[in-house]
Amino acid sequence: MALNFDLTDEQQMLRKMVRNFAEKEIAPIAQELDDKEEFSYTLTKRMGDLGLFGPFVSEEYGGSNVGYISYIIATEEIARIDGSQAATLAAGNSLGISPIYYYGNEEQKRRWLPDLCAGKALSSFGLTEPNAGSDAGASKTAATLEREEWVINGSKIFITNSTADISRVCVVQAVTGKSEDGKNEISCILVPNGTPGFEAKAMHGKMVWRASNTGELYFKDCRVPKENLLGRRGDGFHQMLATLDGGRLSIGAMGLGGAQGAFELALKYSKEREQFSRPIGSFQVNAFKLADMATEIELARLLLYKACWLCENHRPFSKEAAMAKMFCSEMYHRVANQAVQLHGGYGLMKEYPVERHYRNQKLLDIGEGTSEVQRIVIARHIGVPGRAM
Ligand SMILES: Cc1cc2nc3c(=O)[nH]c(=O)nc-3n(C[C@H](O)[C@H](O)[C@H](O)COP(=O)(O)OP(=O)(O)OC[C@H]3O[C@@H](n4cnc5c(N)ncnc54)[C@H](O)[C@@H]3O)c2cc1C
Repeated sequence: MALNFDLTDEQQMLRKMVRNFAEKEIAPIAQELDDKEEFSYTLTKRMGDLGLFGPFVSEEYGGSNVGYISYIIATEEIARIDGSQAATLAAGNSLGISPIYYYGNEEQKRRWLPDLCAGKALSSFGLTEPNAGSDAGASKTAATLEREEWVINGSKIFITNSTADISRVCVVQAVTGKSEDGKNEISCILVPNGTPGFEAKAMHGKMVWRASNTGELYFKDCRVPKENLLGRRGDGFHQMLATLDGGRLSIGAMGLGGAQGAFELALKYSKEREQFSRPIGSFQVNAFKLADMATEIELARLLLYKACWLCENHRPFSKEAAMAKMFCSEMYHRVANQAVQLHGGYGLMKEYPVERHYRNQKLLDIGEGTSEVQRIVIARHIGVPGRAM
């Protein structure tokens, strides 16, 4: 059979298990954590106990090796309930664990991965800088090799999972010299939290993902051994692009799962809430809204799962990952908006979880490449002339 839309028994069991965990353990405390802007060590460890960190990592390094589609299903189920916990998981896996697993040497993998996969520690991916966001190649953070050590100077901003007590290491993208054509040579270097000269400051006041950890990082003559280089010197830009391809699948999963959650809340509410002596869902205009939401979610799922299938089968998937990330994020935007609309005034109150969906959605249009950047990536892949910039 050339086309098969069935999930395996293991994938269905995983969905059920993660759904159960999210409903029983995340849902009751998600709003309180959001109100207090509190990162949850307990939930992070629980996600580790359930094997949700390191789903693409082989068992010898502590991973569960269940594959990309399973990872995406798990992320979707957590995002259905809460964007913050999904962010901790998605960034922990796609941005934290993945570069170490795919580009680290044996010693680096053995040193870092077991605790990261157990949810006992977190690693972060330091790419964005105050003046280098979408234009990630314009990084100013520099690392110079002095005898046996990299000396790092610069700063990073908006780095997920970088300043919690269990944040253990950051993969820092730095300029390590000039290549022959005069362009910046970019490399990735592992910088353990707590290294002298590395200051990690928590950022507060986010509208989105309030219970996820975000930090600003400062490097001042920060020295790490030259062995902390990840992969080969000068490969950092390629490593970053490949890491973001995988990350886009997980952001897509957050959009899909979040939209599913918002839709279910809206469907339930539209059956319960009566106006003019009728459930509001029975007005055709509202029934059509729900029908459109369900259709968009189905479309997004097909697009995202196809991109994951390509990834899992080691085929090129950059274009599909960009399409899935962009579509799932923008679809979540539309669905969350209509879900709040169906809740009327109550949808604007924090005691209704649809309010959190409405806020959390916005990050997905911006993080790991804005929607505009995804369109640039797609335009290049489909052969649009020029640089599309
Ligand atoms: C909560 C949170 C968590 C994050 N986690 C991480 C993390 O873990 N690691 C990390 O490295 N980064 C992280 N980021 C940073 C995120 O990836 C960046 O915010 C994002 O890439 C956009 O960069 P910018 O904010 O500098 O916006 P800018 O690049 O300044 O963009 C501003 C606007 O200009 C548009 N624009 C820019 N260039 C073009 C162009 N060529 N054509 C058309 N439009 C353009 C953008 O689309 C956007 O609308 C996080 C951000 C947030 C808010």
